[in-house]
Amino acid sequence: MARFDKKVAIVTGAASGIGKEIALRFAAEGGIPVIADLNLDAANATAAEIKGKGGDAFAVAMNVVDEDAVNKGVEDVMNKYGRIDVLVSNAGIQIVKPVVDFAFADWKKLLSIHLDGAFLTTKACLKHMYAAKSGSVVYMGSVHSKEASVLKAPYVTAKHGLIGLCKVVAKEGGAYNVRANVVCPGFVRTPLVDKQIPEQAKELGISEADVIKHVMLKDTVDGEFTTTDDVADCVLFFAGARSNALTGQSIVVSHGWFMQ
Ligand code: NAD
Repeated sequence: MARFDKKVAIVTGAASGIGKEIALRFAAEGGIPVIADLNLDAANATAAEIKGKGGDAFAVAMNVVDEDAVNKGVEDVMNKYGRIDVLVSNAGIQIVKPVVDFAFADWKKLLSIHLDGAFLTTKACLKHMYAAKSGSVVYMGSVHSKEASVLKAPYVTAKHGLIGLCKVVAKEGGAYNVRANVVCPGFVRTPLVDKQIPEQAKELGISEADVIKHVMLKDTVDGEFTTTDDVADCVLFFAGARSNALTGQSIVVSHGWFMQ
């Protein structure tokens, strides 16, 4: 039997990049990914791609900072499938600026998508996981959950915060056989990173090639980007853990950029 046979996994931000790869991989292993994204057209396209390969998937319009939209999306999943086995809280954005120039509105927007989004989706899913006495929550952290970089104050703050949320959910969920863990990737070539290469070049006064070589990949062991596939491997590893032995943990997948 496939590892995630008929298991339902809500993946936020799954219309693009890392989340999309995670959804494809869940489906390839027999699971049913719910593509929960702000961008419904792109979410539908991802679901159609999965169905075209013979899998099942469900696209849901969800702004993770809108409590009503989150609750409705989760209820729609329960009405359709009657279970939620996995939540991958992955939706995120990036805004780069030095602290002295960071607009307060942008600080709040970034913190809200990463932290409020993780809280609201966790809260909505936990109710059903507790009732089923089973579940796995995986947060998309970052090397920036453990390390800092210039220009990324709210991102680093939010990604560190997810480790705290994960540990509380792991402790509260233990009695219900619900686990929580964090995956912490290095730089992955997705739209989120492609957008910030010219922005960082402008802020730092260096070329885009130098941003890649001397900022993003400088401390890796081999000068390589991490891939969406590498990240999905770790997410599925946590999601597939069979006992509470693996809970409250974080794993870094970054070509050795950060070693703990
Ligand atoms: P991406 O831009 O390719 O995808 C992000 C997705 O999130 C998009 O489909 C977008 O529509 C969705 N989204 C944004 N705001 C949303 C909201 N409010 N509600 C619902 N969906 C929303 O980015 P990505 O690189 O795949 O990033 C995914 C996650 O991985 C983020 O949490 C990011 O911080 C994290 N991450 C990325 C990297 C990297 O190098 N790309 C490294 C470490 C961690």
